[in-house]
Amino acid sequence: MIFNNGFSYHFLKDLAFSGKKRIFAHVKALNGLEGKKAVYYTLGCKLNFAETSTIGQQMKAAGVETVRSGEVADICIVNTCSVTEVADSKGRQAISRLRHKHPGALMVVTGCYAQLRPIQVAALEGVDLVVGAEQKGDIPMLVAERMAKMPEERALAAHEHLTTRTADIRSFMPSCACGERTRFFLKVQDGCDYYCTYCTIPFARGRSRNGSIASLVRQAEEAAQQGGKEIVLTGVNIGDFGKTTGEKFIDLLRALDEVEGIGRYRISSIEPNLLTEEVIRFCAQSRAFMPHFHIPLQSGSDEVLHLMHRRYDTKFFREKIEEVRRYIPDAFIGVDVIVGMRGETDELFTKARKFLEALPVSQYHVFSYSERPGTKALQIPGKVSPQEKHERSQQILSISEEKLHTYYNIYIGQTRPVLLERPTSDSPEGERILHGFTDNYIRVETKTPSDSPLKGEKAGERPAREASPLRGGLEGSRGLEGSGGLDGLANTIVPVRLGEWNEQGDALMGKIVNSK
Ligand code: SF4
Repeated sequence: MIFNNGFSYHFLKDLAFSGKKRIFAHVKALNGLEGKKAVYYTLGCKLNFAETSTIGQQMKAAGVETVRSGEVADICIVNTCSVTEVADSKGRQAISRLRHKHPGALMVVTGCYAQLRPIQVAALEGVDLVVGAEQKGDIPMLVAERMAKMPEERALAAHEHLTTRTADIRSFMPSCACGERTRFFLKVQDGCDYYCTYCTIPFARGRSRNGSIASLVRQAEEAAQQGGKEIVLTGVNIGDFGKTTGEKFIDLLRALDEVEGIGRYRISSIEPNLLTEEVIRFCAQSRAFMPHFHIPLQSGSDEVLHLMHRRYDTKFFREKIEEVRRYIPDAFIGVDVIVGMRGETDELFTKARKFLEALPVSQYHVFSYSERPGTKALQIPGKVSPQEKHERSQQILSISEEKLHTYYNIYIGQTRPVLLERPTSDSPEGERILHGFTDNYIRVETKTPSDSPLKGEKAGERPAREASPLRGGLEGSRGLEGSGGLDGLANTIVPVRLGEWNEQGDALMGKIVNSK
């Protein structure tokens, strides 16, 4: 639980039990942070971004400002990722870059790389403190204690690491990060109990755990009060929600759907075996859950799925996709695929590719298998060469491109609700460009004359499913009204008629429809 002052339950409990003297020492140390400046750097997934945002809020509550461009920070906080060897290396590069840019700053490193390789990370030049997953919620206090030390003492204490054995990680750090004031990322779950053979996440993030439905609804209400229109539910294995509270994922969805002001929810990613028919049916008729799913498949070969210790086969996966299509025909379905897993022979890859070609999904997110220390996959014979991985990855990417193209093309000429994001740039013709996504996750670019008097509706809702059949329009939605200019359009949900592809080929051009 996070309290209003931004500090974790563990931290406050520690204070309560640590005696008056220590409380004063803590408060005094925190006071020492007042007026300091910090810089934050995040690598990896949405979960990490959400958690960095919480750390930032906690630091702000302790009086720490975020550095502006050109300023030198007193504190650097790097939230690392360790999903691949490349992610580890990016973490090291970030530390080195920040060290040069902010000389003398206290360098704090947290995140998956820090939890998995604390000794290695602590030994890096310039690193003062390595904070593991269990201690993440207490970063302001740890920083305050270190900053309170004399420079000589600080130097002596450098390269320290505070981590807990992964098996003992228990805390759930609540996080709800705001991305550009339009989309919020709400962490509903953390950790994973699945232990897929290629994956290092269970070793970095610990067992599956979650926030309570009541606390998550409160966070969603706060996001709505701050003007958020869309919330992306994030976690490591979201469908496994409920391990710590005994609650059900479907009940979380039902409760969130009731939150006033939030017009859209998306589930960032859900394991196919946990995407139940009940969840799909609920999303199909819910007020605010969008027709959009992200489902990890990882391989289109049963043999490789078996080597990966995934909990389903290709038949189950295909049936799951068909089930989604049955209830929500217009759903955008993104699917994760790993190529070049140990044991993926040419023959198995060809089989997998054929399966992927035939699957009625909208896009593939392709990842090359990366060897991770400590994972069971290292015992599997049949290493795939980097060139072969690259070649396979290109093949799946080209299938993905085709699928995405086909999916977008279906909706050209239709009107869909679009949540418009901040204006990004002005075109040479004096038009403003706004980007956004339709309910079914089509990227849209709208050009609005800069002197346009249009104003979008406030917190619009997605049309009822009956009013929005496959390839249907936007009956039932309110149109545009009054005047207000571009600022009134950003962060609103408006009906947009979808046109042809834009020049870059990464979005459809759209025209805002005034249905009045
Ligand atoms: S489900 Fe498998 S791949 Fe996903 S986080 Fe858990 S162990 Fe890793």
